[in-house]
Amino acid sequence: TKHLRAADQFAKLDSFTHASGAWDGATFDVFNPSTGELLATLPDMGIEDAHAAIEAAAKAQPIWAGKPAKDRSAILRCWHDLIVAHADDLAAILTAEMGKPLGEAKGEVLHAASYIEWYAEEAKRIYGETFPAPANDRRMLVIKQPVGVVGTITPWNFPASMVARKIAPALAAGCAIVLKPAEQTPLVAGAMFVLAEKAGFPAGVLNLLYASEGAPIGRELCSNPKVRKISFTGSTEVGRLLMRQCSDQIKKVSLELGGNAPFIVFDDADIEEAVDGAIQAKFRNAGQTCVSANRIYVQSAVHDAFAEKFVARVRELRVGDGFSPDATIGPMIDGHAIEKIEAHVADALAKGAELRCGGGRIGTKGTFFEPTVLTGISHDMRAAQEETFGPIAPIIHFETAEQVVAEANDTIYGLAAYFYAENLKRVWHVAEALEYGMVGINTGRMSSEAAPFGGIKQSGIGREGSRHGLEDYLEMKYLCMGNI
Ligand code: ADP
Repeated sequence: TKHLRAADQFAKLDSFTHASGAWDGATFDVFNPSTGELLATLPDMGIEDAHAAIEAAAKAQPIWAGKPAKDRSAILRCWHDLIVAHADDLAAILTAEMGKPLGEAKGEVLHAASYIEWYAEEAKRIYGETFPAPANDRRMLVIKQPVGVVGTITPWNFPASMVARKIAPALAAGCAIVLKPAEQTPLVAGAMFVLAEKAGFPAGVLNLLYASEGAPIGRELCSNPKVRKISFTGSTEVGRLLMRQCSDQIKKVSLELGGNAPFIVFDDADIEEAVDGAIQAKFRNAGQTCVSANRIYVQSAVHDAFAEKFVARVRELRVGDGFSPDATIGPMIDGHAIEKIEAHVADALAKGAELRCGGGRIGTKGTFFEPTVLTGISHDMRAAQEETFGPIAPIIHFETAEQVVAEANDTIYGLAAYFYAENLKRVWHVAEALEYGMVGINTGRMSSEAAPFGGIKQSGIGREGSRHGLEDYLEMKYLCMGNI
């Protein structure tokens, strides 16, 4: 089939990998999670390859940073255009390796492109600052400079947009990058790098490491002094480890980690819209996003009406191979993901929850799980405490705003929260009281290249997207001119 050949070709063609030509080292396989089919066999790179990639990046970085901002911008813009022109092929590769429905995959590719477009524009707007000095014989100012070589590690759930969201601002700022995509989904990243080469980035500015394991490469990126910053999206556990590994050299970090998003429906909410938003926030990407609604709180007066309408909508979702035209939910990424979901459902049922629909695996081929709704959830259940990362919607009753805000905030995480309410006073109070980096008010979807995406507490450090996303890759230098 066309997209598989394309994936294979992309994997071989990529000259940014430092492994073009013959590769006689170890290899690893990439599979389609819907079918178990082998998609590609890639070089399995390790510490030495990471070292070589960092050397190449360190050489290229000053050359790239030395280009006029307008030139960096033009190359980024060209990369954006190529991604948009190849969006169908990229989406097919993404669906093949990750499983999400083709329409969602195309949406992700275009979303990825939107970050590249945004930072092509922002590259020209890296402004410094002048300010009045306290003495007349001085002039004081601030210039912004690229942080240097950036090591980036990305996850499998958004294999295209997570790459773009890190790389585009880094490149706009004048950084060179070394990327290790997730082992489950390296192909779309490889394809994007091929297009980057066509767009005209100088050799060494982008470096791709294919690897079956993150740890050895992570250690090299964190311990090599030529890497000045680590930008990671993934689990809080690995984020903690990377931060620890960066502490010896006080290496800068941007971390986008796990979440435990509350989705709150107040009694003055528009229930139809709240149901709609909950479907989006819960089931997009089969619940495998760090901003997925993990706990759905519904106020007593509207609880039963909401639950009934929500269950009816969940029953309409269609699980299947991402290439099948009527599938709205693809497979889970792998068997471990299924085991965690099953454990959360079993724990909830054992502690008294009620299963309203779904609840189990589908078939024996692939890793498909039924969209599931549970009511009668209490705060002590695993489904309310941990990030499930799957299509399970646990619904929790609540009585007052104070109570629900306290429960919503009772977590180590602080990435995304959502709530539905119409009363203006309540909207302001709740928005301010939720301890989260992002709050969706009367919407289940808020990710945008124009907005700062990121978390507080143990959900991360830094922001991606908007003008703030650029700051993560810039250092501030204060210049003081005396004797004037
Ligand atoms: P998930 O549970 O979503 O797979 P991970 O945090 O394990 O999340 O993985 C996200 C990314 O981190 C992947 O690219 C993976 O290869 C990488 N990774 C996993 N373990 C480590 C590690 N010890 N050091 C560096 N990177 C790692």
